[in-house]
Amino acid sequence: RFSTAVANEEPITPPVQVNHTQLLINGQFVDASSGKTFPTLDPRTGEVIAQVAEGGAEDINRAVSAARKAFDEGPWPKMTSYERSQIIFRFADLLEKHSDEIAALETWDNGKPYEQAKQAEIPMLIRVFRYYAGWADKIHGLTIPVDGPYHVQTLHEPIGVAGQIIPWNFPLLMYAWKVAPALACGNSVVLKTAEQTPLSALYVSKLFHEAGLPPGVLNVVSGFGPTAGAALCSHMDVDKLAFTGSTDTGKIVLELAAKSNLKPVTLELGGKSPFIVCEDADIDKAVELAHFALFFNQGQCCCAGSRTFVHERVYNEFVEKAKARALKRVVGDPFKKGIEQGPQIDSKQFEKILRYIRSGIESGATLESGGERIGSKGYYIQPTVFSNVQDDMLIAKDEIFGPVQSILKFKNLDEVIRRANATHYGLAAGVFTQDIDTANTLTRALKAGTVWINCFDVFDAAIPFGGYKMSGHGREKGIYCLNNYLQVKAVVTPLKNPAW
Ligand code: NAD
Repeated sequence: RFSTAVANEEPITPPVQVNHTQLLINGQFVDASSGKTFPTLDPRTGEVIAQVAEGGAEDINRAVSAARKAFDEGPWPKMTSYERSQIIFRFADLLEKHSDEIAALETWDNGKPYEQAKQAEIPMLIRVFRYYAGWADKIHGLTIPVDGPYHVQTLHEPIGVAGQIIPWNFPLLMYAWKVAPALACGNSVVLKTAEQTPLSALYVSKLFHEAGLPPGVLNVVSGFGPTAGAALCSHMDVDKLAFTGSTDTGKIVLELAAKSNLKPVTLELGGKSPFIVCEDADIDKAVELAHFALFFNQGQCCCAGSRTFVHERVYNEFVEKAKARALKRVVGDPFKKGIEQGPQIDSKQFEKILRYIRSGIESGATLESGGERIGSKGYYIQPTVFSNVQDDMLIAKDEIFGPVQSILKFKNLDEVIRRANATHYGLAAGVFTQDIDTANTLTRALKAGTVWINCFDVFDAAIPFGGYKMSGHGREKGIYCLNNYLQVKAVVTPLKNPAW
């Protein structure tokens, strides 16, 4: 049924080598203090790509002291903001120069289509660094008039050592969203990568040092959540935490921050985003974008449009076309040309998605396409479409994080608003209509950090991104993200001669 289900063919040899597998602490690649390593796997086969140093609490301590020293004594916050911005711009130039290898490493470790990494994600990675390099020398406070003989100003200062924990679905984009604003504001960083995808962050961080980043300013620790991740969250010398991942882990991160030194935390968590297709929508465009909204990146997006609400008058037509589109989706080795979907990240996610598919079938939803794994090697899953999905089914409530589209039927706007908002999540929403009043009504009524109207997954570096409710705290990207990495100091000076 699928044009390129090549999971059983011999995988293409990735056009890149793995050169960096140690921890990056104080500008040096070093082994874990314990000497331990863990394997990072190729999702196309489940085979080992490389053994990577497994950072633990002791390594987090080393990384935090390097970051502390770089912040308190080192050159970073003491450089002019223009000098910092120039280093970040030079790094972006190096990313551009090495974009083929970087995209290949990202595909190898993560399984995402190489063309997607090369043409969409690496350019976005570069753009985010250039965007924040541009901000570095434009961050400043205010002068505030007050009721008295005082000169009042605010200083916008870096917070200090930022601890950052990222997931595996967009390893480098998450790296950019975290590292770029933190460094542009003058902080130092300890980054814990996801255990499934440690390779690309190590590669690019080496380039950052070649661009002139002083040692200790950016430290990268590979390792697991309950060990390295938790040690970072609990560390008394970390001044701020930024986390992207599941809502359950977000709660742990917040708790560890509160129980240690009450460091401020920003969280980008899960979602179950509604994608609403009104009766007047351009159906072909809505079908294509609903497909993209769900299946992009193997369905492994926190903002995936995973509840497709379609008006009853256009429901049957929409389902037929959504099914036809899913059946045409090209799945296979992500290094091959024209591939739209590669394997899922690992066996744990793969099994979890297949469990949700079984639960969809058992709970009475109609399986329109897919439903099974592809081949016998690696973590490939057929693009799966369910119709007649009801709100109380697990596939309509939980974040599946896989290529499973759930299509629900609605009758009117009030009803779809109520149902779309009936979730603990609030990350994003898509609205498809040609009527400006319908678009305005839905935009204002939906409780979500982003509303895309007649489009989806538009991620400009300048657009803020973040969640309502249990999808998170705070915003990343854009001007809004700067506040996450700055302290505001109010400075009050008496005026000797208030008349002037
Ligand atoms: P996770 O939230 O457990 O992992 C994300 C990051 O948090 C990783 O770096 C991990 O090592 C770290 N981590 C895990 N436990 C930790 C702890 N106790 N303290 C500190 N850090 C910790 O997510 P997962 O297990 O990789 O995936 C589970 C589910 O999370 C997925 O099925 C999906 O629904 C969701 N998810 C969401 C996103 C997103 O972008 N919002 C990304 C990945 C996964």
